[in-house]
Amino acid sequence: MPHNYTNNKLVQCLCGGIKLKTKGKLRPVINCHCLQCMKTHGNYASYTNILESEVQFLSTKTLKWFFSSKKAKRGFCSVCGASIFFKHLGSKKISISAGMFKNPTNLKTQSNIYIKGKLDYYKLDSKIPKYSKYIK
Ligand SMILES: [Zn+2]
Ligand SMILES: [Zn+2]
Repeated sequence: MPHNYTNNKLVQCLCGGIKLKTKGKLRPVINCHCLQCMKTHGNYASYTNILESEVQFLSTKTLKWFFSSKKAKRGFCSVCGASIFFKHLGSKKISISAGMFKNPTNLKTQSNIYIKGKLDYYKLDSKIPKYSKYIK
């Protein structure tokens, strides 16, 4: 079984208003240091992603979407404030914040992107590739 294959993984926000199960292959995690991720997560973002058709939504009653640009929207919980989703409009995939999963996530971090946005209070792991843009 590949390390990034996780079946039937429960994901939920802090208050439980957003709950889902992933039922497919999760991409390894990408850390994004762009300004928009910084401002919505309060830190860099760590996202895995999956085909949206492989997500079973169990509760979305507190889910709100913020259109952060003409190309993308971000899903968050309107009660507990959790930043959970990133979605390119028109994409079949949805990004999910990796910290929403429970151990063992069986996920690995594959890269750091938009590293020009990195702030000075943390260091990047020199073993993880760095890119100035989004690279799959
Ligand atoms: Zn919540
Ligand atoms: Zn970003």
